[in-house]
Amino acid sequence: MTLPFEVPGPAYRARQVASWIYTRFARTFDDMTDLPAGMRAELAEQFGEIRPAPSTVLSADDGDTLKALFPGSYEAVAMRYRGGRRTVCISSQAGCGLGCTFCATGQMGLIRNLTAFEIVSQVLWAGEVFGERPTNVVLMGMGEPLANYEAVLEAVHSIHEDVGISARRIVVSTVGLVPQIRRLAEDPLPVTLALSLHAPDDETRNELVPVNRRWPVAECLAAAEEFRRAHGRRVSVEYALIDGVNDHPWQATELARLLRRSDIHVNLIPLNPTPGYGVPASPRVQDFADELRGAGVNVTVRDTRGREIDAACGQLATTVLGEAGLSGRGPSAGRG
Ligand code: SAH
Ligand code: SF4
Repeated sequence: MTLPFEVPGPAYRARQVASWIYTRFARTFDDMTDLPAGMRAELAEQFGEIRPAPSTVLSADDGDTLKALFPGSYEAVAMRYRGGRRTVCISSQAGCGLGCTFCATGQMGLIRNLTAFEIVSQVLWAGEVFGERPTNVVLMGMGEPLANYEAVLEAVHSIHEDVGISARRIVVSTVGLVPQIRRLAEDPLPVTLALSLHAPDDETRNELVPVNRRWPVAECLAAAEEFRRAHGRRVSVEYALIDGVNDHPWQATELARLLRRSDIHVNLIPLNPTPGYGVPASPRVQDFADELRGAGVNVTVRDTRGREIDAACGQLATTVLGEAGLSGRGPSAGRG
């Protein structure tokens, strides 16, 4: 196990501390009750806080959705589902520099890359509030994971090896940075890849996702196919439906044509309206889903968990505590 600091003394002490951090989600050295009190005090004095604590936690869905805002402008969302699934959606950057027009994070610009431990710490926070290890991790919070490649890769390895979450239950979502998709395909860890496509035609995608001018639709899909071959893992496509922009029947037909023979699964996301993008969500989500299904494509319509706390996709930004319907919980919020 890797630790973000060095524990003095024999090796088993470091293993003890690591086990508290990664599998029992301890936030302070004080929690580590099987360490000698003197050692706990020493570690606390030397290293202070183990991991960043949220400055605010917002709650929705009767506490089944919790959103943490961390100091330094990044956020994570922990979601409990019936059936025992516990998913945490985490950020890889504060802000994002890729400027997708409909995305709240994109509208902020890039503030900074998160460190590997800051990324892992969001999963540890979720472990703490769930009271147990999350079952799924999605890198669909703020930022473009593959634009912070080294830290994200280190974090993903740690989430797999230290926290013990299976790689295929870790979803890396990318806007389509083709060289980094190829690099990720070469990594031995078989994570799940999601490609944020949002349009089957370059003309529309250029408008929504400016980086499409660099790596257009066909290149993104070819890289996704390479990834699938390398890991034998099904890739999924994310598609946020926007009224009159990417929800035309011809676009469903074209998307189905592109995905023919590819085994790619499509997740349709109803657009979350954001302050900097004036176009509304598509009223045609079910129709579009049916059109794709009719053409033989595998489709899921994603739920919109946590909308009222801006916890849904593309809205992980600029939330003010105290808005109607929000219940804020301070940094001391315990196990949920
Ligand atoms: N940068 C990565 C991961 C973070 S965004 C990426 O783009 O894939 C996670 C998902 O939320 C992406 O599929 C993104 O396109 C989608 N998204 C962004 N803004 C959205 C919005 N306003 N409504 C719905 N989905 C949105
Ligand atoms: Fe960045 Fe993803 Fe938002 Fe695009 S959709 S601006 S890549 S976070």
